[in-house]
Amino acid sequence: MFLAIGLISSSTLQACKSDDNDPKPHEPAPLQLQVITASPEGFQVNSTLITGEKDAVLIDAQFTISDADKLVKIIQDTKKNLTTIYITHSHADHYFGLVQLKKAFPNAKIVALAATVADIQKKWKDQLAQWQPLFGDGITANPIIPDVLTGTTLTLENETFQITGGLQGDEAGNSYVWIPSLKAVVCGDTNYNGVFPWTIETTPEQRKGWISTINTIAALKPALVVAGHKNPTAKDDAASLDLTKGYLAFYDSVLPTATSSADFQTKIKAQYPNLQLPIILQLAADAAF
Ligand SMILES: [Zn+2]
Repeated sequence: MFLAIGLISSSTLQACKSDDNDPKPHEPAPLQLQVITASPEGFQVNSTLITGEKDAVLIDAQFTISDADKLVKIIQDTKKNLTTIYITHSHADHYFGLVQLKKAFPNAKIVALAATVADIQKKWKDQLAQWQPLFGDGITANPIIPDVLTGTTLTLENETFQITGGLQGDEAGNSYVWIPSLKAVVCGDTNYNGVFPWTIETTPEQRKGWISTINTIAALKPALVVAGHKNPTAKDDAASLDLTKGYLAFYDSVLPTATSSADFQTKIKAQYPNLQLPIILQLAADAAF
């Protein structure tokens, strides 16, 4: 179904506040943020690694075993101590890879909001039944369920990241993470960047709520915006919020006028010829007609 391209890509981003390359000895070095994007067969899902002087926090944990193994290697190469892995929402492509991460970093806490943990407990068997026929041994047969996070913050050295949950994105229980010193927002699947958004699980009404979520994130005026999935060459900036918002509005303006799944896909692709992973659009279109 998917091209088995063993590509995983990453980009490192850093908010530079001054031209001074030598941080003052009494000031902690700025945090660094790295986006690691899966292969197409792993739905180009993003993991975000934030590193301080010694420690690191990871947001989302990949889907396939091979993409998770590549992520493990990237984290090991940083030589940082991975303290925490946070999962943004209940979709399998964001947490099935935890198995490989837990093996490599047994001391890292694996956490999600209580509602996300409850969703995963409810859904993981169905998710496995959905994906195992397609991926076989390429995904875990025994997914790890995160522990419930106490509170709504993550800590990395001297900094606190704020989590906002209960948001409509590509499912109802999405969350995003705000990293103040970088003015960065890690969106989970409230935002997509250069790939077709996963619309199959939302109604037109819910997609209006999804647009409201995007407006809330845009109001933070973020300097860095990490989508849940992306084209590996796309920039992690606020243009992705406009892209997702525009796509959802266009999608629902065309849906009532389309005559078939094929007609709907043709109309969407005419407006968005460069988005990747057309299988995502196809699945949603086939379900709608
Ligand atoms: Zn996803």
